[in-house]
Amino acid sequence: MNVFGFKISPSSAIDMDKVDRARFEELCRVEPDAVRCMACGSCSATCPASAFSGMSIRKVLLMLQRGKEKDAFRMMRNCMLCGKCTMVCPRGINTRHLILSICRIYDDKEGKQ
Ligand code: SF4
Ligand code: SF4
Repeated sequence: MNVFGFKISPSSAIDMDKVDRARFEELCRVEPDAVRCMACGSCSATCPASAFSGMSIRKVLLMLQRGKEKDAFRMMRNCMLCGKCTMVCPRGINTRHLILSICRIYDDKEGKQ
């Protein structure tokens, strides 16, 4: 519906009380690096897949925290596991290992769709 030239969009607010964080907490237990990311964006800036697909580990972690697992897996399909992001991360996060742990922990039908 247009009102005076403005379009009313549905709210994108996330009710965190309704988000199931069990798997993200399991990920943090196995990979404490998952909460060490400071969202600086260095990994995305050097990622060869980012330019054409928008791949970003920073965004993947945010999506997982917010229960948007399908979106996170859709984005991670573009990762080539080249390891460039690991070399530039100022927090020393082994991002490649983190991605593999995410795939293992979220390895079920829901996450892969
Ligand atoms: S490992 Fe994946 S996320 Fe990291 S730089 Fe390579 S393609 Fe990008
Ligand atoms: S480079 Fe490291 S700290 Fe920066 S956004 Fe990527 S994973 Fe997070």
